[in-house]
Amino acid sequence: MKCPYCGADMECGVIQSSHELNWQRKKCFFNRAFLHKEAVCLAEYSYLNGSAAEAWLCRVCRKVIVDYSHKDSDMNNN
Ligand SMILES: [Zn+2]
Repeated sequence: MKCPYCGADMECGVIQSSHELNWQRKKCFFNRAFLHKEAVCLAEYSYLNGSAAEAWLCRVCRKVIVDYSHKDSDMNNN
């Protein structure tokens, strides 16, 4: 994948957590997507697997992109 900011080649990897991985408008004590209507769950939590979302890294301009439109970006859905 080419970086949409600078055009460099991006590296595919993961963002991993021992909790549910969400995008939210602000940091919250209770970090669960169902509690915040604007939240987007990037990776659901699994007791055995934790949570992991596919992410693309650009080392040139230091961006990380998670394409959550792709059904396999949440690696617990595989
Ligand atoms: Zn870039």
